[in-house]
Amino acid sequence: MKLNTVIENEKLTISFEVFPPKTDADFESVRQAAYDVAALHPDYMSVTYGAGGSTSGHTLAIAQGIQKEYEVPTIAHLTCVGATKQSIHNALCEMKQAGVENILALRGDRPAWMEQEPFTDYHYASELVETIREFGGFCVGGACYPEGHPDAGNKREDIQNLKKKVDAGCEFLTTQMFFDNNIFYNFLYHAREAGIQVPIIPGIMPITRKTQVKNAVKLSGCHMPERFINIVDHFGSDKAAMQQAGIIYATDQIIDLLANGITHIHVYSMNNADVARGILNNLAEIRKAY
Ligand SMILES: Cc1cc2nc3c(=O)[nH]c(=O)nc-3n(C[C@H](O)[C@H](O)[C@H](O)COP(=O)(O)OP(=O)(O)OC[C@H]3O[C@@H](n4cnc5c(N)ncnc54)[C@H](O)[C@@H]3O)c2cc1C
Repeated sequence: MKLNTVIENEKLTISFEVFPPKTDADFESVRQAAYDVAALHPDYMSVTYGAGGSTSGHTLAIAQGIQKEYEVPTIAHLTCVGATKQSIHNALCEMKQAGVENILALRGDRPAWMEQEPFTDYHYASELVETIREFGGFCVGGACYPEGHPDAGNKREDIQNLKKKVDAGCEFLTTQMFFDNNIFYNFLYHAREAGIQVPIIPGIMPITRKTQVKNAVKLSGCHMPERFINIVDHFGSDKAAMQQAGIIYATDQIIDLLANGITHIHVYSMNNADVARGILNNLAEIRKAY
């Protein structure tokens, strides 16, 4: 099912993100972990993609499996860093053949194995969005950054660039993780002010291990509020306590978003079904209210 239909028809959506294995050897165990998340029947699931195409087959296989085995709509990510028009055309043909209906169109970041300045027909995700729209038949989403993308000169410029991506045919946006909802509300205000009218879906990352904090900051440059740092300082060395605290912090963010009228939420639960289940259990009565 196309995600624009899901988003339009459902009053509340909770979606989960999973990632594919990096190697063939890990395929079965990683697929099973993704299936354990799918068995919780979220409203849809997204499957990430190794920039440069390193996991393309696995991304497709997992997206296809989730749809077929669990009837959960999926969105497959696709990056264009180092890609040519021909390689993207081939990828889109494969995606169509695999029954993929939704694509999160991304630029991606040059992986270490790729040459420094690879020949490419693509410089920005907006160009990939254009190609996918020309190809036809897919619902296309894109990424956005409430705290600004690290390459952008400033947040204003970043939002102007985001508008180009939406004008190219991007039908909804999913945000980078953030840990202070005020950052999201502020971004939403500025995006709407810039004329971006498509649904903007907040991405919530439940941090359930102390080591994830460093990675999250390194990956996204996101601001960690003192309230959350205190939680990690206090519970970080107790695995079970940190998991519970991280799930509750993420749930609290989600409840605040819902209370502010944001009804489509994406959760970076990655391949952790316990975390995904924890979030859904915490929201069980609230979900019934919609
Ligand atoms: C929800 C989400 C999912 C993700 N999934 C994956 C994944 O599966 N695999 C993966 O490898 N990575 C993934 N990423 C990471 C993403 O690939 C990186 O953040 C990458 O650096 C930017 O990708 P983008 O699609 O946002 O790029 P773009 O939208 O192209 O933006 C990149 C930068 O270029 C600037 N820019 C855009 N257009 C123009 C223009 N016309 N002129 C000048 N500047 C411009 C923007 O302001 C920004 O600074 C994801 C990120 C998010 C938020």
